[in-house]
Amino acid sequence: MTTLGHWINGVMVADSGRGQSVFNPATGAVARQVAMASKTTVESAICAAANAFLAWRDTPPLKRARVMFKFKELIERNADRIVHAITEEHGKVLDDALGELQRGIEVVEYACGAPDLLKGEHSRDVGPEIDSWSEMRPLGVVAGITPFNFPAMVPMWMFPLAIVCGNCFVLKPSEKDPGAAIILAELLAEAGLPPGVFNVVNGDKEAVDTLLTDPRIQAVSFVGSTPIAQYIYSTGTAHGKRVQALGGAKNHAVVMPDADLDNAVNAVMGAAYGSCGERCMAISVVVAVGDPVAEAMIAKLAPKVRALKVGNGMDRSSEMGPLVSGPHRDKVRGYIDSAEADGATVVVDGRGLVVPGHEAGYFLGGTLLDRVTPHMQSYREEIFGPVLQVVRVPTLEAAIGLIEAHEYGNGVCIFTTNGGTARAFSNTINIGMVGINVPLPVPVAYHSFGGWKRSLFGDLSIYGPDGIRFYTRRKTLTQRWPMTPLASAQFSFPSN
Ligand code: NAD
Repeated sequence: MTTLGHWINGVMVADSGRGQSVFNPATGAVARQVAMASKTTVESAICAAANAFLAWRDTPPLKRARVMFKFKELIERNADRIVHAITEEHGKVLDDALGELQRGIEVVEYACGAPDLLKGEHSRDVGPEIDSWSEMRPLGVVAGITPFNFPAMVPMWMFPLAIVCGNCFVLKPSEKDPGAAIILAELLAEAGLPPGVFNVVNGDKEAVDTLLTDPRIQAVSFVGSTPIAQYIYSTGTAHGKRVQALGGAKNHAVVMPDADLDNAVNAVMGAAYGSCGERCMAISVVVAVGDPVAEAMIAKLAPKVRALKVGNGMDRSSEMGPLVSGPHRDKVRGYIDSAEADGATVVVDGRGLVVPGHEAGYFLGGTLLDRVTPHMQSYREEIFGPVLQVVRVPTLEAAIGLIEAHEYGNGVCIFTTNGGTARAFSNTINIGMVGINVPLPVPVAYHSFGGWKRSLFGDLSIYGPDGIRFYTRRKTLTQRWPMTPLASAQFSFPSN
């Protein structure tokens, strides 16, 4: 059985130390082993990045962007290989894996515009014979720590922009599905990226803690669960680093009485059960405004949830694959048990699902719960599985109150045919990303992605314009080439 090592200084590095199994969630079989980097291994990656920094910083932005153009081409040529690695280790269906890869490519496309994005600002004649300008300088060595649910896209939210801004990068991908990150590293090298500019260390807390405390790391981007995001933010900032830490979510879809229900049902189906609900922007709660809306939504949703084609993600006819691991499947099942015990109605129960030929896989059928209330554990916590809960409220104001009271603030959407209602809702709601008749309002690559409340720790969102801001720091220069020498010393504070 192969053991996946690390990518350091432009080459694969074997590691015979601590390791961990990577499972194929559709079969429950071990696909490979992955090495768990020691502190020393992570330090060697940081050292490679630090050594590469000065030359990369001084490489013209246009040349950095050319590497990204080539990289995009290579990803597209190797898409099949990357997508199969994602499905084998994560379980999501192939089309969904291709979708996440495409969203990652879009960030690479945005990064190709770096020469324009890094132009800075210039002002002539800010004083007598004085000009001033601001430059956006790279930070140095920066790190990314990423979750299991988007093994290609989330790393690509980070490193293309970090690199094109002139930084060197150390990525610590999820130990559950590390395969895609190593392929991306190989392709970056093939695209002409100098050794050391991009490094991958596989591992767990030991690797993460080394990145958080090493003084050579200037900034950390993190995406994962909220408790770990908070830990990353507090530890990283305590060690003087710039940190953006994106956390978990509970995304509500408000359905108004005037909504086009067929459209809402189809939109919610994909957003709730796509990727088996393992998306930070997954819709996990339908907030039905009025009992008639709840009844109608459930009547339309239930047969579709029962009819979901659940199977191996490699099978092109599957609509939903397995959950990522056995313990996670059991945790999601536990939320359904607790909701039932707390009085929710189990309209469609996925707990008994068996996929023939895949009895050892981590499957769970689509589940639909009605009459869920805010005090239930299944409502308060992020489930991250194929479980859609319906909460009934009497008015839009009650829907807004419910959502505002939740600790998470990643995404939300409203289904309505009334522009005024949509506008009032989006004006008020304290959530970072809002969809109007759009269930997964994941911003495109030239905007930025970020939640509010306990879904993001830090000041800047990820990728897009905020990504450029995060991976650069401003240097402002003021310059005078005097045509006339200063006649005398001036002791008053310089002003115009
Ligand atoms: P996770 O928090 O368990 O792990 C994320 C990363 O942190 C991994 O690389 C992991 O190795 C590392 N890690 C885990 N425990 C650690 C510890 N104690 N100390 C240091 N590092 C540790 O998250 P996950 O289960 O891989 O991913 C799912 C979570 O990610 C969900 O909560 C989901 O909402 C969230 N997520 C959020 C976004 C977003 O944009 N807000 C996007 C994708 C996923």
